[in-house]
Amino acid sequence: MRSEGLTVDYRVRGGVVRAVDGVHLDLHAGEILALVGESGCGKSTLAGALLGARQPSRGRVLFDGDPLPVSARGLRAYRRRVQLVPQDPAGALNPRYSVYEAVAEGLRIHRVPGDERVLVAEALATAGLRPPERFLAALPHELSGGQRQRVLIAAAVALRPVVLLADEPVASLDASARGEILGLLLRLRDHLGLAALVITHDLGLAWNVADRVAVMYLGRIVEVGPAGAVLTAPRHPYTQALLSVLPESDRPATVLAGEPPDPARMPLGCRFHPRCPALATGRAAAVADRCRTMDPAVLPGGRASGAACHLLPAPSGT
Ligand code: ADP
Ligand code: MG
Repeated sequence: MRSEGLTVDYRVRGGVVRAVDGVHLDLHAGEILALVGESGCGKSTLAGALLGARQPSRGRVLFDGDPLPVSARGLRAYRRRVQLVPQDPAGALNPRYSVYEAVAEGLRIHRVPGDERVLVAEALATAGLRPPERFLAALPHELSGGQRQRVLIAAAVALRPVVLLADEPVASLDASARGEILGLLLRLRDHLGLAALVITHDLGLAWNVADRVAVMYLGRIVEVGPAGAVLTAPRHPYTQALLSVLPESDRPATVLAGEPPDPARMPLGCRFHPRCPALATGRAAAVADRCRTMDPAVLPGGRASGAACHLLPAPSGT
């Protein structure tokens, strides 16, 4: 799955807000890509556009080399192969639907052939709800947060997708449930060959699950690369600051000054410059004029690795 220059605008009172701004991003077969950034930077909007649920104002999404279908029927087939695991399991599950109904619903919508009870039970087992019979009649409020998240994952994998878009899959969970759900995503990758875009505001989570990491700031990907490289040798001052405040970090913590990202107030020049520690400390003195006036070049997609920052050489790879 690939996005090319994907741009998504919201019409709001007083104009247009650009929530996603020219994103080139590839999700390769069988990989887990963590999409990381603070709340409001455009992660869910990007996922919505990848899903074909939100119309881009520029750019496009390709799947297996083809642009997303536009017909209702084509889109339905696409949405079977690319499944969203929605944010907030408590809100995403209908409180009156049993686990069985929650998983069977998608099978019915997509008219998946086969014995429904068998398919539901298999999906629950794949998502780690074992034995499945114990969960079929349960209602969401009778389950733990981790179990509810597994029901949503079961509903997705029941359709045999090739891609999962998981929006903040563990944000509402405690540490042990968190580890279990991340372990489940890894098993789905290893055993079913599923690719997953795992969206998170917590860069620390990428350590446990990601093959590659993309860091987003105000609608742009500002750094992308293999997880090991981004997490051990971050290049963008934003990634460096995010990493420095993690408990496991050995760098001095850099607390970002200024306002969190708000696309309604897009800064001129590099969009990160008003909060950039490299500018504040003088490390970027030689390029400060460019930081204040010029947008850094947009990162290419493919397997490129690099950071969009005037302090750094242009990104490498394709
Ligand atoms: P994230 O998932 O990273 O928190 P979102 O994609 O939800 O970010 O939002 C990105 C930006 O777009 C935010 O500034 C948010 O306020 C704005 N936004 C999101 N949805 C809408 C909408 N339906 N109408 C107007 N603005 C929106
Ligand atoms: Mg979101």
